[in-house]
Amino acid sequence: MHIVDIITKKRDHEVLTKEEINYFINGYVSGEIKDYHASSLLMAIYLNGMNYEETINLTEAMLHSGDVLDLSDIPGIKVDKHSTGGVGDKTSMVIGPIVACCGAKLAKMSGRGLGFTGGTLDKLESIPGMNINLDSEQFKKQIKDIGIAIVGQTGNLVPADKKLYALRDVTATVEVLSLIASSIMSKKLASGSNTILLDVKVGSGAFMKTPEDAKSLATLLCNIGNSFNRDTRAVITNMQEPLGLAIGNILEVKEAIATLKGHGPKDFVELCEKCASIILNQAKIVKSLDEGIKLVREKINNGEAFNKFKEFIAAQGGDTSYIDNVDKFKVAKTSVSIKSISNGYISEINSLDIGKAAMELGAGRESKEDPIDYTAGIVLSKKVGDEVKVGEEIAKIYTNKEDFKNTLANIYGAFKIVKKPVEEPKIIIDYIK
Ligand code: URA
Repeated sequence: MHIVDIITKKRDHEVLTKEEINYFINGYVSGEIKDYHASSLLMAIYLNGMNYEETINLTEAMLHSGDVLDLSDIPGIKVDKHSTGGVGDKTSMVIGPIVACCGAKLAKMSGRGLGFTGGTLDKLESIPGMNINLDSEQFKKQIKDIGIAIVGQTGNLVPADKKLYALRDVTATVEVLSLIASSIMSKKLASGSNTILLDVKVGSGAFMKTPEDAKSLATLLCNIGNSFNRDTRAVITNMQEPLGLAIGNILEVKEAIATLKGHGPKDFVELCEKCASIILNQAKIVKSLDEGIKLVREKINNGEAFNKFKEFIAAQGGDTSYIDNVDKFKVAKTSVSIKSISNGYISEINSLDIGKAAMELGAGRESKEDPIDYTAGIVLSKKVGDEVKVGEEIAKIYTNKEDFKNTLANIYGAFKIVKKPVEEPKIIIDYIK
C-alpha cells in the first residue's frame, strides 16, 4: 500500500477501504507517514468528505491507536458526557455530582481550554489543591469509591488524535464532520464508559453555527457511539449567548456551587436538570426524563448534590473550605460595572465576542503555554429577553490587567438592545437519541 495512492483516491472522490484507513492511521502514528502526506490527505477529506462507513472505520482506527481504558471491574453503569465547547460552560461540575449521588458512575476525562475561557480542568484547578492528574488505577478506584472522577487524560489514549488534531489546526482542516466526529468519538470510546451524552452547542460561540449543522454532527456522533454498542444521545443547545451568567474560571466554579445549592441562573439550571435526567435514564436509574428531573431537584434540595461535589473535590485533593465559603476565593484586583446607555430589551449577547473579551481579561489562553488568571472574567447581569433601563448594569468585568479599555468597548458591543420586547431563547433546541 502507498500513501500517495490513498491520497489520489480521496482526491478523485473515491471511497477508502478499512485497510487503507488503518494503514494511514498506523503509519502516521508511527512516524512512517509524514506530515506533508497526512496534510494532503486531510485536505482531500475536507474537500470531498467521507461517507458513514469510512467515518466509522476512521473512528475505529483512531480508537485503537493507543491505550483503551477498561472500566468493566467497576460495578454498575459507567456514564460519560462531552460538550463541544462554549462560553460559560461549567455543566460537568454540576451534572457530575448530581448523577453520582443518584448512583450513576461518572468516569470523565476532560480537556483544557484554548482560546475563550478555560476548559473544565482549568476550572477545577482554580480550586486550591485540586489534582486532575490521576493514573488509571486511581481514576478507577475513585469512581468505585465515590461514583465520580473528572481528570485529565490518563495513559496514552488515542495518540492518533493528538497528532492529527495538531495538524488539522494548522492546515485549515478542522471543520469537517467526519474528522470532528471521529476525533470526538474515538476519545470518548477509548475512555471506557457504557453511555455517552453529547452536548452539541450551536451559535456564535460554538463550532457549529446553525441548528442544521449541529443536528448533522449530533446525529453522526450518536450513530457512531451506538454502532460501538454505547447508549449515545445528544442535546443540541443554544450558544448564541453565553451559558448562565459567569464566564471565567473561579467565577464559573462559584456559579456551579450556587447551582448545586439551588440558586443557579435559569438557562443553566434547565440544561443541567435535563442533561442529568438523560444520564440517569441512560444509567437505568430512572424510567423517564420527568422522573429524572424530579430526582435531580430532590438531590439539589436535600443537599446531597452539593455534598457529593465536596466529596469529589476532597477526593482529588481540593480544599473544601473554599467550597463551604466561596468568599475565600481570590478576587481580581479590578472590577468594573458596564452600564446600559439605552432603555429597551436585550436581543443579543454575542458569545464569541464575550468569550474573546474574557480571554483578553486573562481568563483564557491564546496559546498552549499561556498562563491563566483564574480570577479574571465577566459576570453578566442581564440575559437575552431581559428588559434594561439607562444606567442599569448589564455586565461586570474582573481583571488584573492594567489596560482593558478596548475590551470594555467590545463587551458593550456584544450587547444589542432593541425597543420591542424580545422572547427569551430556548436553551435546549433538540434532543437526539
Ligand atoms: N473537538 C474535538 O475533540 N475534536 C474535533 O475535531 C473538534 C472538536
